[in-house]
Amino acid sequence: MGLQTEADVRSFPLDAIFVDEVETLNPQLTEALQERLYHSHLKWQRWFSQPTAVGFGIDEKFQLTDQRHQVFKCKCGGEFVMEESFPSCVLVDAPGRRVLLSEWHGTPPSDPASDLQAQGRITAHYCCPKCHHSFNPLEATWRWAAKYPSRSATGHGYQLTQLYSPTLTATDVALMYLRAQSPRAVERFYNSVLGLPYLGGDRQPIHPDKLAYAEQLVARNTEVACYVGVDVGDTLHMVALQPPHVIAIEQFRGSNKWRELFNRILALRATAVAINAMPYKDSAKDIIKQLKQHNIYGVLIYDASDAAKSSVGYEDEGFGEPIRRIVYPRVDMMDGTVNALLRNEIILPPRRSEQTEQLVKHLLNYITEVDEQGNRTYARGREDHLGRALDYARTIAQYALPLRLAHIDYGNPQNWLVPETAHKPTPL
Ligand SMILES: [Zn+2]
Repeated sequence: MGLQTEADVRSFPLDAIFVDEVETLNPQLTEALQERLYHSHLKWQRWFSQPTAVGFGIDEKFQLTDQRHQVFKCKCGGEFVMEESFPSCVLVDAPGRRVLLSEWHGTPPSDPASDLQAQGRITAHYCCPKCHHSFNPLEATWRWAAKYPSRSATGHGYQLTQLYSPTLTATDVALMYLRAQSPRAVERFYNSVLGLPYLGGDRQPIHPDKLAYAEQLVARNTEVACYVGVDVGDTLHMVALQPPHVIAIEQFRGSNKWRELFNRILALRATAVAINAMPYKDSAKDIIKQLKQHNIYGVLIYDASDAAKSSVGYEDEGFGEPIRRIVYPRVDMMDGTVNALLRNEIILPPRRSEQTEQLVKHLLNYITEVDEQGNRTYARGREDHLGRALDYARTIAQYALPLRLAHIDYGNPQNWLVPETAHKPTPL
């Protein structure tokens, strides 16, 4: 149908709709189309599109489905999703060197990628991101795997990418990637080649290529302070920061998760820990009390509404065992982490590690939007837990100096705070 207006849509009761290029449709038309199915017993719908923005159009629909991805299996036993491991699944052969595309670090200005290709000097092929054994996606073993099998009853979603297109070679893809320099070009590469939603600019400020990564995992050095942030939910997400390095990214699940987290924090010999209090405040308080017996300072940290001011204080003062508390505006806290990451003041573990990829994926879900009052904020309800754990680790690191976390002093909160004049935030 040539749909221009809602009137066009309203003239047909429908049993099935097949909608291509969802992104180009007016959102009101897509809603009107769905309403035309209400009378039907079949209610068949198929939506197709190249994605644009995260959380918009086809991505909004995909997020509600079971989210099936094509999972490839390598001879080493490793399994991976190409578009998610990109650019770590491409090996580039250039004169005198063979490197992963993720480690290319750009070509010198005098020798741009286009010249390299013109001279036939650069070729690329796909590889397993784990063992780097080369593979051809058109011949490799693969299967569809749903990220959220429990949602299969409501709808199936399939993620496709040009990476296994028979008409684009790995060399074509590598060159397109290397040439995509402007934010707009990077966005187009994500949308049309990888098939992933991406916004760039101020809306989705984090991009994997803009972050700093260590060559090797940095070990815990007990001469240096180490700050741990924990985001609490059914899974506990933990990030440890030994400024400027992130030295651990971990998740704990199951009935022993709090005990495992406690043991891990002890093993890291953390200086201070910030635990988001909600929604399991009692467990968070218990672990803070236990850590105190090991001279590790614990703080409950709360997201304040974006209009609120930050504050520090205590809670449970009346019960004789006060717990330190930091309240910090959510948008300021997330902005602070984004800025520190983009200025490369926080260095992530090696890019190829699964943990780093997970953290970066969660940071990609830092999407800014404007709320009903017209204020800039970060979208809620996205999978951002490891990013939030980094927020908390960074915030406790910044408070460590003014709050004198180097001394146990559960006395008068006023003694705990140094005078306002000494309140210089610790640069990260
Ligand atoms: Zn492999």
